[in-house]
Amino acid sequence: GATPEKLEFQSDVARLRKIVINSLYSHRDVFLRELISNANDAIEKLRLTALKDKSLVDPDKPLNITLKMVKDEEDESVQRKLIITDTGIGMAPEELKANLGTLAKSGTSEFLAKADGENAGNLIGQFGVGFYSSFLVASHVYVASRSLPTAENPNPVQHVFSSDAEEGSFEVYLDPRGNTLEHGTEITLILKKDAKEYAESATIQNLVEKHSAFSTTFPIFLFDRLKEEVPVEDEEDESAPADAEKKTESEDDDDAIIEDVTEKPKEKKMKTILTDHWMRLNEQPPLWQRDPKSVTDQEYKDLYKATFHDYSEPLAWYHFSGDAMGTAFKAIFYVPSHVPADFWNSGTPSPKDIRLLVKRVFITNDLGEDALPKWISWIKIIVDADDLPLNVSRETLQNTRFLRQLKNAIMKRFIQLMTKIAEEEPERFTKINEQYNPIFKLGALEDEKDSTKLAALIRYDTNTRDKISLEEYVSNRKKGQKQIFYLAGMGQRKDDLLKSVFLERLTARGYEVLLFNEPLDEILVNKLRKWGGMKFQDSAKSGLKFGDEEEDEEEEKERQKVLEEQYKPLLDWLTTQTKGIVADVKVSQRLVTSPCAIVAHQQGMSANMERLMKAQTQ
Ligand code: ADP
Ligand code: MG
Repeated sequence: GATPEKLEFQSDVARLRKIVINSLYSHRDVFLRELISNANDAIEKLRLTALKDKSLVDPDKPLNITLKMVKDEEDESVQRKLIITDTGIGMAPEELKANLGTLAKSGTSEFLAKADGENAGNLIGQFGVGFYSSFLVASHVYVASRSLPTAENPNPVQHVFSSDAEEGSFEVYLDPRGNTLEHGTEITLILKKDAKEYAESATIQNLVEKHSAFSTTFPIFLFDRLKEEVPVEDEEDESAPADAEKKTESEDDDDAIIEDVTEKPKEKKMKTILTDHWMRLNEQPPLWQRDPKSVTDQEYKDLYKATFHDYSEPLAWYHFSGDAMGTAFKAIFYVPSHVPADFWNSGTPSPKDIRLLVKRVFITNDLGEDALPKWISWIKIIVDADDLPLNVSRETLQNTRFLRQLKNAIMKRFIQLMTKIAEEEPERFTKINEQYNPIFKLGALEDEKDSTKLAALIRYDTNTRDKISLEEYVSNRKKGQKQIFYLAGMGQRKDDLLKSVFLERLTARGYEVLLFNEPLDEILVNKLRKWGGMKFQDSAKSGLKFGDEEEDEEEEKERQKVLEEQYKPLLDWLTTQTKGIVADVKVSQRLVTSPCAIVAHQQGMSANMERLMKAQTQ
């Protein structure tokens, strides 16, 4: 039953293949890192399966990736090939169909949604297009794969997925060569005529060093068939042993030496043979095991991109060693270019990107929802511990103090790093703050221990300045000022906030007022209550105190009394007209140009909070 089964690609796949083939030409190098990263994933899956069921895998079987080149220097008509093989988990025929013939990958669908052909080249930098990038360099791709034996299927049969760049279909069939793989996948790329360089070891070596050195901690071997000139063994050589015997007989004879000398220059016939040449490509220890001083920024960025499949550069990172419960560890955490799009909507955090390794071997990237508090659950971490049991399960890990201490170390270092950047590299911090200002607010609210440190990272616009810290507000206070004034208008633009009647008197008197426009702002100041010894005061509520009262307090009171007398008829009239709607009508000193304002009671909810509560109960 080796009749090939011809199948049509799912329509999205067909589209993606077209985009890949037509518009990503200048990015075609990426195919190699995509295939190496898939090979790495497949070996990791095998390792994890093997940890659970030891009977499935021979523990001595090496886990590695090999890159093999086939070419004929002389004969250009011979098709060049690049073959990438992994000893990973492999794919059963149904999996070959499903994984390579349909689009399961969410990232790729997102890519498709945005790609319109023109900007696809830029997008590949952000998304990567996985397996289909093979067609950037290959006119035909064969994927031979053999899955891991299972109890139901103890002897899986190797199958081939075959697809031509020109056609919109693929075939899956029994491998006519039989089971050449113990388990794993062998991808053969028949290189396009204009992609011949990918069968040169120098090209491949260079690419692996540049892009994939960090994609995997499993060894990558380069296997090249090199031409070599070797002497042809002729008849004379065959009779050599007899000569040698003669020579031994006359060992002490001077003639023997002369004979040797005359023999050397004698032309030997040479012939060309192909020898297998192996070399290990990614020999350096993993980056996190190295001394941070020896690691370049580019290397950190490359590691990030390769590990977390995020093609945009991280904004910051921190590489450190620590100790949790007597277990030494090395860790690097990264601050991605942006907070995930669904962060604010999804109720539960999903810190999927804590990659835990033990002695350089990947264990898990799923430490569960509680691995980190919500506010920092977007952070990306690689942590390599020295002596946790290799088969440690997620459940046991969650309950260990190791994890709790690790978590605390990460949070502490994150806050340290941000504080340092804010102090020493203001421009860089501005960039980080653009993305993470709301995160600092959430952190200050959620975190009990480091609430003030996180609040110090928040930047606010005010009626007079942009993006200042609470510290900067306090040091800019007017003489005698006792309150930190703020104006809250959820979701309102700064321009609108600046028109508020509540700012009139404060601005006129030269006071700075923090402008709040996010729901978290007010909740946070209610928690903080004070900063630098000054209480927060809502400028839309009663209770404002000015520190610059030049007038005599008695005189002021006297004037207020006169005004109240003078306006009594108006106040009485307004009070009856607004009965049941407002609590009180008063003569106010806070307005400069506006005739009147409606304010919230000091002990009551602010108008903004009320809006927020209403929105939540709907
Ligand atoms: P992604 O790696 O993001 O899932 P790809 O297009 O690179 O997307 O690969 C699609 C799927 O094909 C993978 O998720 C995996 O299931 C399967 N696959 C690809 N390469 C291999 C391989 N070398 N070994 C086993 N499975 C593989
Ligand atoms: Mg992939």
